[in-house]
Amino acid sequence: MKRLTNQPTERPTTHVLVLGAGYAGLLFTMRLVGKTSAKDVRITLVNDAPHFTERLRMHQYAANQTLTWRSLPRMLAKTHVAFIEGKATHIDVGGRAVTVETPAQTRTISFDYLVLAIGSLTDRDRSPGVAEYAYTLAPRGPLSAAALREKLPALAQRGGRVVVVGGGPTGVESAAELASSYPRLKVHLVTEGKPGGAFGKDISEYMGRTLTRLGVQMHAEATVTAVGADGVTTAAGEAIPYDVCLWTGGFVAPTLARDAGLAVNGHNQALVDPFMRALGHPEVYAVGDAAHPQEDPGVPVRMSAVTATILGAHGADCLSAILHGKMPHPLSFAYLGQGIALGRGNAIGFNNYPDDKPRHPYFTGWLGFQGREFFVRLLTDMPGYERRWPGFFYWPGKRRYLAARKHLAQTGGDQVSRNRTLDPVR
Ligand SMILES: Cc1cc2nc3c(=O)[nH]c(=O)nc-3n(C[C@H](O)[C@H](O)[C@H](O)COP(=O)(O)OP(=O)(O)OC[C@H]3O[C@@H](n4cnc5c(N)ncnc54)[C@H](O)[C@@H]3O)c2cc1C
Repeated sequence: MKRLTNQPTERPTTHVLVLGAGYAGLLFTMRLVGKTSAKDVRITLVNDAPHFTERLRMHQYAANQTLTWRSLPRMLAKTHVAFIEGKATHIDVGGRAVTVETPAQTRTISFDYLVLAIGSLTDRDRSPGVAEYAYTLAPRGPLSAAALREKLPALAQRGGRVVVVGGGPTGVESAAELASSYPRLKVHLVTEGKPGGAFGKDISEYMGRTLTRLGVQMHAEATVTAVGADGVTTAAGEAIPYDVCLWTGGFVAPTLARDAGLAVNGHNQALVDPFMRALGHPEVYAVGDAAHPQEDPGVPVRMSAVTATILGAHGADCLSAILHGKMPHPLSFAYLGQGIALGRGNAIGFNNYPDDKPRHPYFTGWLGFQGREFFVRLLTDMPGYERRWPGFFYWPGKRRYLAARKHLAQTGGDQVSRNRTLDPVR
């Protein structure tokens, strides 16, 4: 722990400042609470809303479903965490301080360790017109899920047309949810390849059949090159008119890390070492969608709530180990399964252990829906479990990487791991 040797009467504490209370940041915070004491560590959690946002349900929120908004101050009550509602706008890495705009004032908050858990948002710079005209599933603000929720009932009433752009999981989930919630709405899905094409033929075909059954009109193999005030244009020159356009074409992290001069990738994600520390800055940690490991841990690391939860827990384990003068373990995990909602009461779930490649068995219909619901709820409840039973969260593949290293070292083929930066106290 940090020692304040010139102030012997004052209790020395280390200040950990966490930015973002999503899946990664909230779990990081709760886990660190269980691994540290208020005598030694002070934790501040900053989030730009006073509640936990279930991003996994934003398409359901846009389609007028009722969500539970859990109060962050209530979840953190009686812990050694101070909660501040506010938006971090600037990081001074050298000066170890963050500027935060709260509803009442602008504050500068200093830190010993900073944790970036600010998640991701829809990339609005992909095509001209997206920023001006398209809705995204951001929780609040103009052209958000909240704004869409207000607009859709009247639009559905008069049989209006929604064009969803993007055939990845978010686009597919959105098109299916809107079509099943508002049968009178004309829902179109425009996608570069096939809907869910990245998941392989079987899953993609199931998604396509389900969307068609729900009345969604498909525009596959169509790249949108521009979004106008009342229609999108494809690379082939097709004009598809709309009343509302919902853009789901990929996520990027906010620019906060990039603007602070931290090393980032093309998606603005802070590049981190196997202990979740920003490259060259051992006092800055990054977890969740806002982070990307520079050295892959043997499986691809994609933006997802499951990965965010694992990275959050792993980051807390690493920082706790460092604070206690111990050696943290490098990042290691495996995927277990994935579920994609396909409207009310339907979803497809599948095995993707260990490397994120979809495999049998597939679960569809009611069973798939219940499976997805179970995991969505589990991820949301996990910070609460972690608080009640510190260290509760355990993830698949936690020891895979170390086991692989050991095996390679024994068999003499350890070139990959010899190249890895595994010294945690650099
Ligand atoms: C509709 C939809 C469906 C999805 N479905 C799935 C799914 O089925 N499975 C899956 O694994 N993933 C899914 N995802 C992706 C998943 O939601 C994200 O990968 C996940 O939320 C990332 O978690 P995170 O904690 O890194 O970020 P977030 O959950 O985005 O949390 C970041 C937090 O930081 C706050 N914040 C951001 N900037 C600042 C700032 N400057 N100052 C203060 N606070 C800030 C945000 O308000 C937020 O509370 C879905 C996403 C969407 C939009």
